[in-house]
Amino acid sequence: MEAADRTGMAVITPHPPGTGRRRRRVRGSGRRRLRRLAALSTAVGLVAASCAAEPAAGPAPGDDPASELAFAEGRATATTDPTATRDVTATTEPRPRPPTTLPPPIAHGTPEQPFIPLPPTATATAVVTPTGVVLPVVFDRRATTGEASWVALTPCGDARIVSDLEPLGRAHVVLDPGHGGREFGSVGPAGVVEKDLNLAVALAAETMLADAGASVILTRSTDVAMTTGVRAALARTVRPALFVSIHHNGGAPATGDRPGTIVFTKSQSEASTRFGGLFHQALTPGLIEIANAKQEEFRHYAIVFAAHEAAIADYDRSLAARDAALVANGQIAPTATTLPPPAPLEGRERIDGTEVPSTREPVTTTTMPVPDDRTTVVVPDTVPLPSPPDLVRVPEFRWAGSGNAGVRSWLADDGRDLLSVLRRSGDVPAVLVEYLYVTNPVEEALLADPAFVELEARALTVAILRFLSTDDEGTGFVADQVGDQNIGGGGRATDCREPELGLGQTAG
Ligand SMILES: [Zn+2]
Repeated sequence: MEAADRTGMAVITPHPPGTGRRRRRVRGSGRRRLRRLAALSTAVGLVAASCAAEPAAGPAPGDDPASELAFAEGRATATTDPTATRDVTATTEPRPRPPTTLPPPIAHGTPEQPFIPLPPTATATAVVTPTGVVLPVVFDRRATTGEASWVALTPCGDARIVSDLEPLGRAHVVLDPGHGGREFGSVGPAGVVEKDLNLAVALAAETMLADAGASVILTRSTDVAMTTGVRAALARTVRPALFVSIHHNGGAPATGDRPGTIVFTKSQSEASTRFGGLFHQALTPGLIEIANAKQEEFRHYAIVFAAHEAAIADYDRSLAARDAALVANGQIAPTATTLPPPAPLEGRERIDGTEVPSTREPVTTTTMPVPDDRTTVVVPDTVPLPSPPDLVRVPEFRWAGSGNAGVRSWLADDGRDLLSVLRRSGDVPAVLVEYLYVTNPVEEALLADPAFVELEARALTVAILRFLSTDDEGTGFVADQVGDQNIGGGGRATDCREPELGLGQTAG
């Protein structure tokens, strides 16, 4: 499940790595300043989505302009000397002017060439740390300082000045494996962890897309934490043709015979909706094919199981008939031990793969001679005791969340996208996909299979190829979801722990 963010904190902390955070709360005047800055940030279109926005209505949606403007006004500087905790205001740097125009959107390609050659960028959209962490660039200082240095956002939303890192340009696609680090996301009953699944799908899709000629940037390519604000910031700085946030769902909704896949699309974005439909169309047939095969296995199991249970019931009946005759003949006492327990199927509507086949111990009955010259009844033979079935239990395959599946937007009470990673990704076409329910045992069993994760990645790749090379619409559209809802506390800066960035002493 996607995460919500915390409210109201602007953080400007040029501090050497590893020396812990220094926070400064924005007081009354700060809120007025924030509103003014919010107006400015939309004007300059810069991205500084750190960790200050609620999932639903509230001030400063999407990004914390404070740090952005602070850098635009040159009040934050590089501290090349790690021990120098210079005051952010004491700077002699010339005031850089923030870029006013957004880079052009990435054009779509053709079936022959889905991924068009990317336009060069004068400024870096992101930088990569030595530990492989991608930091969205808030401001490229090369033009003003002549140095290879940038103001970038750390995974937990701190704005820092970094230098001598690998700069990135544009990309066709940004893939966002949800959660990471201490934020596990949903966890299955057998221990399959969502954050790992999301990353595995993203890495596999990245390879497939690259093989098809795409340039792809991942918000994370290792198990690190990152706020939703920073993920959205990367979408806005890179401005890909498409941003896909990858998730696997949790909870225990009612099950059914259709996959519970949900694609949340950015509202007011036809491109996002279209991609959502293409994703649904690319994934669903493969899932249904697998479910049919699993159901076939289950049907076979159920038939063998039912046959065994019926044989047990036959045996029980024949034993009861024999004992009744022996009792009638006075050959055995009418004690309770002769009446076997009911067969498990009795009283059960259906087999669902969770039951245990019935077993019976062979019965050795000592019969006495007929006590007197009464007329005896014929003692019927029992049917052979059924041997335990050679049966591997196969659970019935039912999808969780069937009734809730589909492609739709989720609007907060204020009419904006409730999911902050969609609300805050600017005008970039963006979706958040909830593939399946890792908390549903039969789906978790699928997800534990690397070949299935490969299938998920392939469906994503096929959908992206079609999105960028055709005008096809796709399937699975349902009515929008409307209304605030507490979707858990993930993705907030408050819970975020900065991963090792490997910046050593250079970062500010
Ligand atoms: Zn999730």
